[in-house]
Amino acid sequence: MTEPSTIAQQAELLVRTAEHLFEAGVMSHSGHANLSARLDDESFLLTPGFVRGLSTDQVAVVGVDGVVRGGRLQSAGAEIVNMHGVVYRARPHVGAVLHTHSPAATAFALAHRPLPCRTELMLRFGQAEDVPVVPWGPRGSDVSVRGVAEVLATSPTTSAVLLANHGLLVFGPDPRSTADLLIALEESAEAELAARALGGAVDFPAGALDAVRASMARAAS
Ligand SMILES: [Zn+2]
Repeated sequence: MTEPSTIAQQAELLVRTAEHLFEAGVMSHSGHANLSARLDDESFLLTPGFVRGLSTDQVAVVGVDGVVRGGRLQSAGAEIVNMHGVVYRARPHVGAVLHTHSPAATAFALAHRPLPCRTELMLRFGQAEDVPVVPWGPRGSDVSVRGVAEVLATSPTTSAVLLANHGLLVFGPDPRSTADLLIALEESAEAELAARALGGAVDFPAGALDAVRASMARAAS
């Protein structure tokens, strides 16, 4: 059982993460997002579907099986709960899952185009591969959740997926670093789209991704 003080701390962290995402300018006009943070093997905290002006008392405790265990979830949160749960179940080391409709990344989701890994920023913030697209299904539906599980299985090292015709889902060890990756992805998507006016973004040279991975591994050891 998670201590109430831990729940309060994690809820506060989600509030600050929402503010961080707005300050970074990566939110869509509506302010729609669902942010979650793992509490333990069995449960996580989940925000409602709109996070502008979020407060800690709006955050609910949910089991990784999708059952609400404390607090109240608004309908948007209740629909999306399994989309978060499937990531926590599939990736035991994930501590946070963030879902937004960040406009440039969502453009790739609408076009069913993976977001290519072509910026140094993406590499540095932990996404050293293209962001794959999960086939469309109504949000939170079995089809959609199964699609997320399948892409997580076929792309075991990705830290993000694009939800076709919907938006972006990013996951990582904690809310702050996951938000930083989300911001890096949105910035990369913007740059990718802007580069099209100049003839299109260009891939890294052959072997560059491996070289950066090796360099990052050395720095971390
Ligand atoms: Zn959404």
